[in-house]
Amino acid sequence: MSLVPPSLTLGNRFATELPELSVPWQAQKAPEPRLLLLNEPLSAELGLDPAWLRSPDGNRLLVGELLPPDATPVAQGYAGHQFGGFVPRLGDGRALLLGEVRNTDGQLLDLHLKGSGRTPFARGGDGLAAVGPMLREYVISEAMHALGIPTTRALAVVATGATVRRESLLPGAVLARVASSHLRVGSFQYARASGDLALLRRLADLAISRHHPAAAGADRPALALFEAVVAAQADLVAQWMLVGFVHGVMNTDNMTISGETIDYGPCAFLDAFDPATVFSSIDETGRYAYGNQPVVAQWNLARLAEALLPLLDDDEEQAIPIAVEALNGFSERYDTAWSTGMRAKLGLPAAADDVVAPLVEELLGLLHAGHVDHTSAFRSLSSAARGDTEPARSLFLDLAAIDSWLARWREVGPDADAMDRVNPVYVPRNHLVEQALTAGTEGDLAPVERLLEVLARPFDQRPGLEAYAEPAPEHFGAYRTFCGT
Ligand code: AMP
Ligand code: MG
Repeated sequence: MSLVPPSLTLGNRFATELPELSVPWQAQKAPEPRLLLLNEPLSAELGLDPAWLRSPDGNRLLVGELLPPDATPVAQGYAGHQFGGFVPRLGDGRALLLGEVRNTDGQLLDLHLKGSGRTPFARGGDGLAAVGPMLREYVISEAMHALGIPTTRALAVVATGATVRRESLLPGAVLARVASSHLRVGSFQYARASGDLALLRRLADLAISRHHPAAAGADRPALALFEAVVAAQADLVAQWMLVGFVHGVMNTDNMTISGETIDYGPCAFLDAFDPATVFSSIDETGRYAYGNQPVVAQWNLARLAEALLPLLDDDEEQAIPIAVEALNGFSERYDTAWSTGMRAKLGLPAAADDVVAPLVEELLGLLHAGHVDHTSAFRSLSSAARGDTEPARSLFLDLAAIDSWLARWREVGPDADAMDRVNPVYVPRNHLVEQALTAGTEGDLAPVERLLEVLARPFDQRPGLEAYAEPAPEHFGAYRTFCGT
């Protein structure tokens, strides 16, 4: 008989407190589970023995087949605006919330599977995921975590032994991921659309209790919740912008209430700095382009405000101005987070705004005009601050302009060591991610493991890893990513 370790308990708070928002469901049986990647530090944080997770029974847990007897796995229901159009019923078409676990710090986290088979929310989908995209979510989410950006975490990728039909036949996989929760803007839209205000209130209560507990004591807890989500998302998107991350599919179902980055589909990091950068093959109008992300985040938060309106005031006429005022707080919060981050990137944490703002604007203009690699450019500045301007100069076309900029910036006295702690050397370079995923799909996991090792310490420049710091070679061309895979 197979047993899960007694240390593993899976809570069912979401399933029992909000039964209207989910359907109890089981994972599809994986014909031949085989562990591809395991996040040992994260396993330990969850109190799970990595050696057990590597065992056949452990693998069966990671594909949802072997669960504690009282577990209540569910597919969550949610709605969402996809590329601006409202879809009232999306939900976990190929995912399951196995339950809630406590980490060693006592924090309650969701243990969730993606690629675990069709659910009642699957619509036309097959409920499956291919190895490549699941490795991709693992790599990018762990890179984001190492960069200090709030994100869901990847616990494991297990190949299922099943074949997935996409443009070609591909090996299938399940990703086990961990998040503060999977509550989304779309969860609130779904509860609101049900017309059941008591349900909406219970959802808000759960969100407050799990993510923004200070809101519970406010005069209007739902307003305090909304303000907390606005602040968390403003801070999050500022961090994306500072590091050059393009999420790619910022639908309201892919925006969390916790402020964690979620659902890594067609995401990628900038090479050349350009606000118009789009990687996703389905984003034809550039709605989710790099430079649009703050505006889109605020648009999504307006949809959250609409869903919350009945909780803000019994009288809708009163509720609307309250919501609008809170939503307007986004811009200031975002601007502060972004400019504080930019100061840190330029090594000028204490300089006056009227000194830093023009320097930032001019630098971004030079990066854009010269198609300069975003990550390399910021990292090269610490050498310049130490007196060696060559690494920076070699990246720019307009030498007179960059020389003049460097001279004015150095006069303000940038702190090179502090810059090296915030400007990464290593980000998931698109061409390296693609190479590693192709090898992984063919059964060779060494490149993905190596990439993960490099990305786990993004600020720590190490000899021998030069290739991981380089932008894509010219022949790599314009990068396109595909979602829904
Ligand atoms: P995503 O783009 O991964 O955030 O997914 C958007 C919606 O499509 C969610 O409701 C997913 O559950 C659903 N979905 C994506 N791919 C599949 C699939 N292969 N089978 C079933 N549902 C899917
Ligand atoms: Mg999604």
